[in-house]
Amino acid sequence: MKHVDYILVGLGIAGLCFAETLLRQGKNFLVIEDGEKEATTASGGVLNPTVLKRFTAAWNAQQFFDKAIPFYDAIGERLEKQVLNPIGIQRIFNSIEEQNDWVVASDKKQLTAFLSSEIQKNTNESVKATLGLGNVKGGALLHPAELIERYRMYLQQNELLVSENFDYDALETAETTNTYKKYTAEQIVFAQGAKVRENPFFNLSVSPEGSRVFVGNKGEYVIFKAPNLQLTTILKGPVMIIPLGNDLYKVGASYGRDDFSEGTTNKAREEIVSKLKKMISCNFEVVDQVSGIRPTVKDRKPLLGNFLDHPKLYFLSGLGTRGLSMAPLLSEWLYDYIEKNEELPREVDLKRFL
Ligand SMILES: Cc1cc2nc3c(=O)[nH]c(=O)nc-3n(C[C@H](O)[C@H](O)[C@H](O)COP(=O)(O)OP(=O)(O)OC[C@H]3O[C@@H](n4cnc5c(N)ncnc54)[C@H](O)[C@@H]3O)c2cc1C
Repeated sequence: MKHVDYILVGLGIAGLCFAETLLRQGKNFLVIEDGEKEATTASGGVLNPTVLKRFTAAWNAQQFFDKAIPFYDAIGERLEKQVLNPIGIQRIFNSIEEQNDWVVASDKKQLTAFLSSEIQKNTNESVKATLGLGNVKGGALLHPAELIERYRMYLQQNELLVSENFDYDALETAETTNTYKKYTAEQIVFAQGAKVRENPFFNLSVSPEGSRVFVGNKGEYVIFKAPNLQLTTILKGPVMIIPLGNDLYKVGASYGRDDFSEGTTNKAREEIVSKLKKMISCNFEVVDQVSGIRPTVKDRKPLLGNFLDHPKLYFLSGLGTRGLSMAPLLSEWLYDYIEKNEELPREVDLKRFL
């Protein structure tokens, strides 16, 4: 038997940030992950402090960003590769009213740090934005699939990773310690994204009320090549265009409410491409499409903590549509809850649904 402080299940952004938190705290641990490409690898990689539909700040944006930016920079140092890059985000205006709303919003206390009040003229001939653009400050972009792959290799090299589907039947829980196959662990943290619904220890799945806690929220992106687009910022219109380099862009994403199905669809591709055509006028070629399920909770807040019947099994899920900016601070909250007995903020504590 090998003893570790933690077994961590899942290596999406939640698992990665919790693993990084454990490394920094000098804990010994093991990550078990099945290598499936889930929400994180499909995601756009955008850290956007604002909600560009309504011109508001994202929930707790300042707090999450203050933690996330230095956190990812330090991961970059560990991996010897910068993982987070600052990037401009531009919102295309559809009407004079929207321009006015933007200027008013940019003056609000919560938003002055994030919205530039100036209405910028569009200078890119391939972009359709006759009413100009609004600039978001403080946005950043990471390449999620590459980040996960590099982190996975780092864990492998340090013998901290087991690649397998976590077998719930092999877990024995006791008051002081947990046993899983040839390992014993003080604590187990499940960071399984939307798949936590299948976890028999996740009590919210078994109650009728709890089974409705997650709202299926499938997202799809189309990847296209457009040499004439020459976009260096993220562009938000009916869909979001994200520059990937080498004339490649990700565009989307779709929102499939109450949809937990896997794989890409023609319907989403057609919808995204038709919206893309409203934003750009140059030629483009679709080269790929990806999909993932956002672990979205019905009150749009994360799910952290544990249940009374298995107090040493913890959950870090419900990261929803903005997991990349939230995961570093959520990991710290959960760690402090486990190790320092600090209370979780009520909005994220899974016990709110009991
Ligand atoms: C199309 C799309 C676009 C998005 N764009 C953005 C964006 O631009 N910015 C942003 O902040 N957020 C975005 N999101 C949301 C973001 O992706 C999620 O909030 C976040 O990735 C969730 O991370 P997670 O680690 O909780 O889950 P996941 O990324 O789903 O990871 C869960 C992991 O657990 C593993 N796992 C599950 N069960 C088991 C088991 N039994 N055994 C072993 N391993 C297991 C899975 O294989 C997976 O590796 C987007 C989501 C989608 C789908």
